[in-house]
Amino acid sequence: MRRKVQNPPKREGSSVFEVAKEVYKVPREGKMIIMKSDATKEQIAQVVKEIKKCGLRADVSRGEFRTIIGLVGDESKISFAHFATLPGVKEARAVEVSYKLISKEYRKLLEGESERMVVKVGNVEIGGDEPIFIAGPCAVESKEQLLRIAEESKQAGADILRGGIFKPRSSVHSFQGLGSIGWKEAEQALAWLREAGERFELATVTEVRGETQVDLAAEYADILQIGARNMYNQDLLTKVARKNKPILFKRHFGAGIEEFLSLAEYIAAEGNKNIILCERGILPIGKGKNFTRYTLDLAAVPAIQKETFLPIIVDPSHGSGRRDLIFNMSCAAIAAGANGVMIEVHYNPEEALVDAQQAITLDELKEIIDVCQKINRLVAPKRNEES
Ligand code: PEP
Ligand code: MN
Repeated sequence: MRRKVQNPPKREGSSVFEVAKEVYKVPREGKMIIMKSDATKEQIAQVVKEIKKCGLRADVSRGEFRTIIGLVGDESKISFAHFATLPGVKEARAVEVSYKLISKEYRKLLEGESERMVVKVGNVEIGGDEPIFIAGPCAVESKEQLLRIAEESKQAGADILRGGIFKPRSSVHSFQGLGSIGWKEAEQALAWLREAGERFELATVTEVRGETQVDLAAEYADILQIGARNMYNQDLLTKVARKNKPILFKRHFGAGIEEFLSLAEYIAAEGNKNIILCERGILPIGKGKNFTRYTLDLAAVPAIQKETFLPIIVDPSHGSGRRDLIFNMSCAAIAAGANGVMIEVHYNPEEALVDAQQAITLDELKEIIDVCQKINRLVAPKRNEES
């Protein structure tokens, strides 16, 4: 029996599809309001009130000399010209990016602020003149394992200790991290991370894989990591951002640079600009995957630095998937202008429960840190000249 074929829906000019396309097109332009240098607190508050009345939110950035207000939300709902007439407003301006809150242009308008933002975590400055080094196991396996790696990472010159407790894994049959065993195990592993950080004076970072883990992880870790697979998870980004802790934000392996920055904007839109971007490799093409796990997109580093004031680091471990390439790719990352690298290490790499093939020894880490610092001394003056 022949099945009855239904007519496809009409798609002429006024169809619902055309309307939706028009209404929901991605905004390529962001609006911001520049206050006069002598604008009063009341005038700023009045602008914020008007923005809220339109159902939008306001991102208020106070520079040394002036205040800039970015609109957060669907800007098509407001009459922009109206804002230019409000008392205390110098100018209402549009910028041609979909990630204005983290754009260089936004920062430049805040006269007196340096073009680059430094994210501070305890004594560690990410985005300053010196590159930072994040090291640790892919996954936290035991207290002994973590404390030993922390101590040796510190001796090698690392600034920040990493350790996955909630691991994103492709196979449900592999080790998912201690946090996936149960809440008690998660809390215990997080406590080890904090203890290792305190004992060896290292800041700490761990990944939050889902919304339910955010509150707990935020109690223990200094920096919360959003892994590549979660780059698009808006609800998780919003929840993590509201913790007001620095966020290590990894690029999805299929994401373009504009998408990566547009999603980072979700974090900034919650008023949290302590974002450390991380390039960790994009999908390799064709037979490339027989040689490297991902393709480390190092051109993205200076390209992103031209767009945003946020610091960006590189993860050569996931970016290559091969321990024999980590030294070269770390050097290349710093030469490309990265503000640091994140490397998976283990005292017995072969033994690592997760990502053993890309783990390096602590001696290798030390060598990388020494050489990267030298490379940075060569490239940093030129970088400052250009930015
Ligand atoms: C990690 O850093 O532990 C990790 C899983 O990396 P990615 O999200 O980049 O795959
Ligand atoms: Mn890993």
